[in-house]
Amino acid sequence: MRKGSKFMVICFICVMLLTSTVAGAATDQVSKTDGNILTMAAAWKQTAAEYRALYHQGFNLATQKVGAALRDIKSGDKPLAVLTDLDDTLLLPLNYWGTLIESGKDFFDDAIWDSWIPKYEMTVAPGALDFLKYCKDNGVEVFYVTNRDQGDATYDLALESLKRLNFPYADKEHLTVLIETSNKEDAQHAVAEKFNVVCYLGDSLNDFKRVYYVKDVDERIALMENDRALFGDKFIIFPNPTDGHWIRAIFGESEPPASDENRQKFKEAATKNKSKP
Ligand SMILES: [Mg+2]
Repeated sequence: MRKGSKFMVICFICVMLLTSTVAGAATDQVSKTDGNILTMAAAWKQTAAEYRALYHQGFNLATQKVGAALRDIKSGDKPLAVLTDLDDTLLLPLNYWGTLIESGKDFFDDAIWDSWIPKYEMTVAPGALDFLKYCKDNGVEVFYVTNRDQGDATYDLALESLKRLNFPYADKEHLTVLIETSNKEDAQHAVAEKFNVVCYLGDSLNDFKRVYYVKDVDERIALMENDRALFGDKFIIFPNPTDGHWIRAIFGESEPPASDENRQKFKEAATKNKSKP
């Protein structure tokens, strides 16, 4: 190769390397600036058959529990009941998460949530209505306990959402809405005094016992493990990868503000376990 040709080849390689480096940097920049940390969890909720199958699994299990309790009930026993959470247990706010991401939000947004609730766009969780009707048809009362806050309209909005979706027992006797607290124990005890609660349904550990309401991730896991035999038995849990008290255990609050500091905390949570270099 002539000296001039050699120079041309070296120049060409340098230009190619520079171009690919710049292109790579640009791609990284695009993926970082366009990345929304909520996207994958929301996409799973919106599309995964597995997400829906977990609801069927939960309600099939709950149906079996109620069926067994109906077979075992004896004269003089307390009547049977089921105690259930609403949001992400019986009602799925899929539309909210789509709206949130479409709005460029990467953390739960209370203002969007509060303006979305009165639109009544919740959908029924797969299998939920069949299970609730099975309870109703067999005289098993269902008590709904939820924690919401949309101001003075909170209770009416929650009750109306049940009525619109033809949920049985959609009345003031069976619906408790907690506004000031997420502690469900008083409502649970009140029902358990009069009824044999066959099972509790929820998407957050707090839907079962308040003792799980701790801010330390490892402590929360350990508390759950102490009760491992109850899950799939007395406690039927449903999936929620977007929000709940697992978020509180990471950030110290259930609805942390969207900040770079909190995005960093999410990254630290995501790399809690990793291989050593
Ligand atoms: Mg819930």
